[in-house]
Amino acid sequence: MHKWILLSCLLCSFSAAAQKDDALAITHVTVIDCTGAPAQPNSTVVVVGTRITAVGPADTVKIPTGTRVVDATGKFLIPGLWDMHGHLTDATEDAFPLLIMNGVTGVRDMGGDLVQIDRWRSEFESGARVGPHIIRAGPFVDGPKEGVSNRLTVRTPEEARKAVGDLKAKGVDFIKVHNALPPDAFFALMDEAHKEHIPVAVHLPKNVSSAEASDAGVVSFEHVETLYESAMWRKGATAKTIEQAVDEILGPAGQELFQRFVKNGTWYVPTLVAYERGFVLWSNDPESLKPRLDVHKKNIEVIRKMHKAGVQIMAGSDFSDWAMVPGVDLHNELALLVEAGFTPLEALQAATLNPAKFLGKTDTFGTIQAGRVADLALLDMNPLEDISHTRKIHAVVLGGRFYPLAFIRARALQNATK
Ligand SMILES: [Zn+2]
Repeated sequence: MHKWILLSCLLCSFSAAAQKDDALAITHVTVIDCTGAPAQPNSTVVVVGTRITAVGPADTVKIPTGTRVVDATGKFLIPGLWDMHGHLTDATEDAFPLLIMNGVTGVRDMGGDLVQIDRWRSEFESGARVGPHIIRAGPFVDGPKEGVSNRLTVRTPEEARKAVGDLKAKGVDFIKVHNALPPDAFFALMDEAHKEHIPVAVHLPKNVSSAEASDAGVVSFEHVETLYESAMWRKGATAKTIEQAVDEILGPAGQELFQRFVKNGTWYVPTLVAYERGFVLWSNDPESLKPRLDVHKKNIEVIRKMHKAGVQIMAGSDFSDWAMVPGVDLHNELALLVEAGFTPLEALQAATLNPAKFLGKTDTFGTIQAGRVADLALLDMNPLEDISHTRKIHAVVLGGRFYPLAFIRARALQNATK
């Protein structure tokens, strides 16, 4: 924790020291633009202000005079990554330097303190603090629950409709529903959210089936385990244990469900790493370790089938105040997606192009193309050869500003030894 704070301070002061020149050219780099096009070796990317203005072969792209030139021979450039499931309020501001150093330039915040998040967001926009772009839900909409914070507690359909109005008035980007919301309140919330054009993401409420929630128009399901909860708790459920629920999802019932997701355009954020690190690696109970590990392996098989069926999937880590490390665990999630049959490019797209598509912002971010915001990660090794190379970050460009990682690390070591 201490180191995080140290790095946080370094990034605050570093923002003033970072390159302030208006124009930047990264030359002789291999561009993996994440549109689906093959990698383009020996390319130049020009950034003016906050946006990419040109991308093309190094010998044809014109570099405006006075531009700061970074020779990136032998390196690889990918779009900045988005973690599509995180909780900044719980992770605290210590998360910001970790996210940026790991090339995570955007976060979908899945429930937290709206006032605090908006304060951070305006500090990022003004340049007073360095941190990722944020799309946020504000408080969770949930049924009555003990000992949890940042909840809007809803018990009835009337309260659900009022909650939608209240959240709309506060300007949230979407609504996050949690699992204690009563079914009749959930369906009323969906109806009202449709009328108000607010997207709804779900940690599935108990006694609502995945199929019903997809048909009701939720934009995304969170966590692979949600499917098992639905298989055990929905009306008419036959699965009594998590093992039986997993078998159901891996069988024809799962295929039918995935086809429904495809038809309805329902996205999925599996957060495989949250289960692995939270419920397997952090378990200190040897008795339950084996069954938990078995579930983790089955989770990967479920996502393999879901991906093959054509369901649209995004990368998210569920970083918060427990087992996950902000930034670092998004890279672990990408590796798990590759384990689940994604090509390395598809895994990258799950954190770049797909979030942009999901948010309707493909003209703003998610790819390396002229006109997009200059959020980039410069890598020392090729992530298409091995997805773990996304961790080999040399520098990060955030909103057009260049942050060399070696410099930050050297400063961190200098300060730590004083
Ligand atoms: Zn979460």
